[in-house]
Amino acid sequence: MTEAVPSPSGQEATTPLAAPVLELDGVSIAYERAPVVRDLALAVRPGEVVALLGANGAGKTTTLRGISGLLKVTSGSIRLAGQELAGASPAARARRGIAHVPHDRGIFFGLTVAEHFRLDGLAAPARQQAAFEHFPALADLRGRRAGLLSGGEQQMLALARAIAREPQVLLLDEMSLGLAPVVVERLLPIVSDLAASKGVGVLLVEQHVHLALKIAHRGYILSHGELIASGTASELASDSALLQASYLGTALAVMGEAPVQHRFRVAGRRAHGIDRA
Ligand code: ATP
Repeated sequence: MTEAVPSPSGQEATTPLAAPVLELDGVSIAYERAPVVRDLALAVRPGEVVALLGANGAGKTTTLRGISGLLKVTSGSIRLAGQELAGASPAARARRGIAHVPHDRGIFFGLTVAEHFRLDGLAAPARQQAAFEHFPALADLRGRRAGLLSGGEQQMLALARAIAREPQVLLLDEMSLGLAPVVVERLLPIVSDLAASKGVGVLLVEQHVHLALKIAHRGYILSHGELIASGTASELASDSALLQASYLGTALAVMGEAPVQHRFRVAGRRAHGIDRA
C-alpha cells in the first residue's frame, strides 16, 4: 500500500506506507492514582519526526517516561515494531531500541565524554563513529568532563549517546532547554538527518513549537493529559490560534472542540492521525 506521507516542508511525497515503529493505544498514566495522561493514542513511523506539543503540565514528559518504562501505564498498550512492551523494564526497552534523552540530559558531570560511552557499553570506536559523524566537535572533547562542557555540548553528548545505541525510536524531551535558539537551530536538523538517514522514528517534545514543526512531519497536541488535535506539521503550524492556545494551556476553552475536530483528526482510542496499512 502507498500513501501520501507529509514531509517537513509540508509537501506530500508518495512513499510506501511503513507500519508504525512506535504505537500507543488508549494509554493512561497516573501519579499516586491521579491520572495525568488519559486514553492517549499516537504513532510514529520509521524515519518520521513527530512533535508532541502542549502547555506546561500537559503530560508530555509523563508520556515519554511511560514509553521508556520509567513510569508504569495504568491502562492501554505501547508497542515497539508491533511488539507489546508491557512488563519490560526500562533497560529491556533500551535494549530493544528505545533511546530516551530526558530534559536533564541524563549525563554525569564528573565523567568525561569518553567515559559516558564506556558506561553505556559503547567503547568500541565503530559504535561511536556514527555519533561523532553527527557531532564532529564532540570528538575533540573526548577527554573533557561533562560538567565542563557548554550547554550545547552537553546536549550533543546526550544525543550522541542515544545515536550510538542505534535506536529504532528516539524520545527527545525539551532538548532546547537552557540553550540559545541559534544552538537549537543547529541541533534540530541533526535530528531530522538521523531520522531520514537511519530510519529512526523520533518523538520530539519541544517548547520552541515553531522550530519543532520545521523538522517534524506530524504533530500531536496534548492538553491536560488528553490529545486535542493532531495533524501534519504544516496543518498545525498554519493554525496560530490553536498553537498559541495549546502552549498557553487554554486550547479547549479558546478553540472549542468542534473547530478542532473539523480541522484535524482528533485522536481517540483508534485515531493515530495516520491510517493503518
Ligand atoms: P512541561 O512542559 O512543564 O515539562 P509536561 O507536559 O511535560 O510539562 P509533565 O511533566 O508530564 O508535563 O507533568 C504532567 C502533570 O503531572 C503535571 O500536572 C505535573 O505537576 C504532574 N507530575 C509530574 N511529575 C509528578 C510526580 N512525580 N508526582 C506527581 N505529579 C507529577
